[in-house]
Amino acid sequence: MTKPSRPKPPTVGFISLGCPKNLVDSEVMMGLLDRAGARLTAHPEEAEILIVNTCSFIDTAKQESIDTILEMARHKTSGRAKKLIVAGCLVERYRDEIRKSIPEVDAVIGTGELESILEAAGLAPASPSPFTILHGSAQAELRPGQESQAGTHHHAPEKPSTEGAGAFRPLNTGLQSTRALAPAAASRPEGNLRERQGRFRRDSWQGAARQLPTYLYDEQTPRLLTTPTSSAYIKIAEGCDHPCAFCVIPNLRGKFRSRHLESVVAEAEQLVARGVREITLIGQDTTCYGEDLGMKDGLAQLLDALAAIPNLRWLRFLYAYPNRITNRLLETIAKHDNICKYLDLPLQHASPAVLKRMKRGGSADIFLKTLKKVRAAIPGVVLRTAFIVGFPGESLRDFEILEEFIREAEFDWLGVFGYSDEEGSGSFALDGKIPRRTIESRRRRLMKLQQSISKRAKQQWVGRELVLLAEGESEETPLLWEGRTQFHAPEIDGKVYINDFGPLAALEPGRFYRAVITEAHEYDIVARILSAAL
Ligand code: SF4
Repeated sequence: MTKPSRPKPPTVGFISLGCPKNLVDSEVMMGLLDRAGARLTAHPEEAEILIVNTCSFIDTAKQESIDTILEMARHKTSGRAKKLIVAGCLVERYRDEIRKSIPEVDAVIGTGELESILEAAGLAPASPSPFTILHGSAQAELRPGQESQAGTHHHAPEKPSTEGAGAFRPLNTGLQSTRALAPAAASRPEGNLRERQGRFRRDSWQGAARQLPTYLYDEQTPRLLTTPTSSAYIKIAEGCDHPCAFCVIPNLRGKFRSRHLESVVAEAEQLVARGVREITLIGQDTTCYGEDLGMKDGLAQLLDALAAIPNLRWLRFLYAYPNRITNRLLETIAKHDNICKYLDLPLQHASPAVLKRMKRGGSADIFLKTLKKVRAAIPGVVLRTAFIVGFPGESLRDFEILEEFIREAEFDWLGVFGYSDEEGSGSFALDGKIPRRTIESRRRRLMKLQQSISKRAKQQWVGRELVLLAEGESEETPLLWEGRTQFHAPEIDGKVYINDFGPLAALEPGRFYRAVITEAHEYDIVARILSAAL
């Protein structure tokens, strides 16, 4: 009797768009697929199943998502691909429309349905569930084997990786949890209040799943890393309870919920054991970390615990909310050598009138005081922020207040975004919309201003000795290498070009070196290697 032949595992091509938070979701979906036997490829033309993990933050992100889906759809009509799956934020927003207008799409998967990727790909569903599922407003915790809500909706799409299949690094497969489960967590009171006020409502979104996403991954969830060997992101929380009028992320991602501290530490330890030396903690607002778990100064507690992991060289977190910068948090950053002296603090505006309309609060004066406090507590700290120009009702005077603030605050890194009028956001209904041309000219004016501030600040780096992480040959020319210092977050800030290896014959990507800064430009700096850093 001949044995029945086992079906050949499918080859999957994955495209991840948007932010690092979406990238972690993609890495989790890839981990699930890998554990279920799928073979991942970085070449869409080789894939039988193509998955696009989309972003829906603003118009340009939506357009990029749609263009990518259409591009992948072509592989289905004229190539090897048999299935096209779309995942992520675009699905939360336009679930029905995607299927209606792009018939090549076989399945859609929302941001809370990551494990449905298996069913959508025709693979056996994960059992037990690889996710912590938080239940309703009480957020009682269910563990694998108990009822799972994820995956009970439609299928949703995922995101792609640009790395070769050989570069995917499995993490967490088959590991047992070492943590005891904490008692059922409660939502933050702010989240519950905003829910009652309708903050998370998506009734008008055709086909949107009624229930908000509630899942969280943990240290046991399979995950394939796509970042360079030495660096990884850890998502410490999901969702957001803030009321910012321009932002639809809470409607897409649900209420704020934190992972347990023990779970984050366990994941970090696994990463470091596999050679990761730089960990970047991410969430919509990392400074709220632990509030839903009843923790006070949760982020500071988490940083303390993570900083104690041997061989973790750089630790940073992204996206601090301005009024949540506590003294304890600043002291924690200052006291640990392996916590990067770097703070990403998106302020969005500086005019109190605009900030009020944005439902954020604050003012240039308040922010200047915060920055003074941060700089006093963490000598040499490097600050990044982001602003939105052209928010409805932004007068010329409001814009000038922002301009003066930028001049005074002297940020090291700064992003300026033109307001994007997103249907479903609070500001969509506001009057006083600013013409696109005005928005663009205001944006350019601020970028020009920042260019001169940044150039001046970078000039002061010349002659400084710093530790840098070598990343590899520059994409622009093989004559240069690229690296980063603790003052450069991955993929966000300017570059460090290495044009002189000093006493070394060669550099190794993922290794740390002592270097001296020899030149500074507007955003990028040039360095000469002095020695390997131990
Ligand atoms: S803090 Fe504001 S801008 Fe950031 S994700 Fe939350 S609602 Fe959006």
